Amino acid sequence: MSTIVHKYGGTSMGSIEKIKSVAKKVILEKEKGNDVVVVVSAMGKTTNKLVDLAKEIDTNPDKREFDMLLSTGEQISISLLAIAIQSLGYEAISFTGYQAGIKTKGVHAKSEIDSIDTDRIKENLEQGKIVIVAGFQGINENGDITTLGRGGSDTTAVALAAALGCNCIIYTDVEGIYPVDPKLYPNAKKIDFISYKEMIEMSRLGAGVMETTSVEIGYKNNVPIYVASSSKDTKGTYITENKNIINYKSVIGIAIDDHTSILTIKDILSKSNDISTVFEILSNENLEIKIINQIASDNEHTSLSFVVSKGDLGCVDKAIYEIKSKLNHVEAYEDLDVSTISVVGKGINYHVINKIFNIFKENNINFKQVFTSELSISFIVDNKYKQRFIELLGNEFDL
Ligand code: ADP
Ligand code: ASP
Ligand code: MG
Repeated sequence: MSTIVHKYGGTSMGSIEKIKSVAKKVILEKEKGNDVVVVVSAMGKTTNKLVDLAKEIDTNPDKREFDMLLSTGEQISISLLAIAIQSLGYEAISFTGYQAGIKTKGVHAKSEIDSIDTDRIKENLEQGKIVIVAGFQGINENGDITTLGRGGSDTTAVALAAALGCNCIIYTDVEGIYPVDPKLYPNAKKIDFISYKEMIEMSRLGAGVMETTSVEIGYKNNVPIYVASSSKDTKGTYITENKNIINYKSVIGIAIDDHTSILTIKDILSKSNDISTVFEILSNENLEIKIINQIASDNEHTSLSFVVSKGDLGCVDKAIYEIKSKLNHVEAYEDLDVSTISVVGKGINYHVINKIFNIFKENNINFKQVFTSELSISFIVDNKYKQRFIELLGNEFDL
């Protein structure tokens, strides 16, 4: 008998009917003779609705209370799934992150898993129960509930698989990992195997099908991850480090990140403390900065532009407000109508870059910023070019 972790995301848990079919899928696994730990997300768009509720009161709510609120979504799912499994005649028990022994560290809304004490989970598995764990949450050293960042149920699932030394299946609303989000590029051909490193790069740059930290944990702990459809019995995608699988394609995928924006600050006085003030404010707001550009307009003035993550907490708005109130001679604004589109692969060489620049030229598409990493090249484009650019890239690189 072996243990296995299943994870079901928001769409897969989106209604009572869907929860009942998740219950059946879990029972099938149990019937194969396996001990099953199930990690679930909040139903449908519940987490977004909770974010909106908080923002109706305060656009920059207290982060402890924000976590307290957001973590409730998963609590609804775990109990309903336990009831659904029990009603089919099987034993099940639901646990919050705390009850499952998940300890977290770091800041609210973006915590990391520090450790997992699996005793209670194992005890209940030994009693023959199906154990259901709330994704996306844990408890910090102050005894407060924290959340792991949006999409964090994937992290709960893979971290539990690592702690239990078992495999992890991520069941979701698509049939596996595609080179491009199939909702944006329906021609995309499903990938059978992808390496951890390639998946980490795709996720980091916006392929939300797997949350980045989860794949990093899988990589570090050698957890085999299989991503598949929660509703269809089709073949999914393995994320592994299998040395026999060599991907010869120079470009393996396109990642799209809609959650970036450009924060620009103009008329900074170069010879004053303005720049330090700006960085202090950005650091206080915990802004995730992806690129920094500085352009000197003359000897006395300079402009800074940052590519940042939008986030749920209105941090960029707050930063702009703080910057304007502390430095009333500067102009500060956010350009929200942009996306980051990244071409990912081991073979991003001059030949590939030349092809991409030809697409820009031949189709009159402009980009605002460009940045590279070992495995990718990323372009920030106005949203009006997004769909067309994705289609042209998908076509060019046969994705
Ligand atoms: P869940 O609620 O199951 O965690 P998510 O919405 O977080 O589901 O992730 C699944 C979604 O990820 C898909 O519906 C798809 O639109 C999107 N996605 C983005 N990039 C990719 C990709 N490269 N391959 C597959 N799906 C992708
Ligand atoms: N419910 C959380 C979110 O919407 C966690 C998750 O879905 O993985 O971000
Ligand atoms: Mg997800």
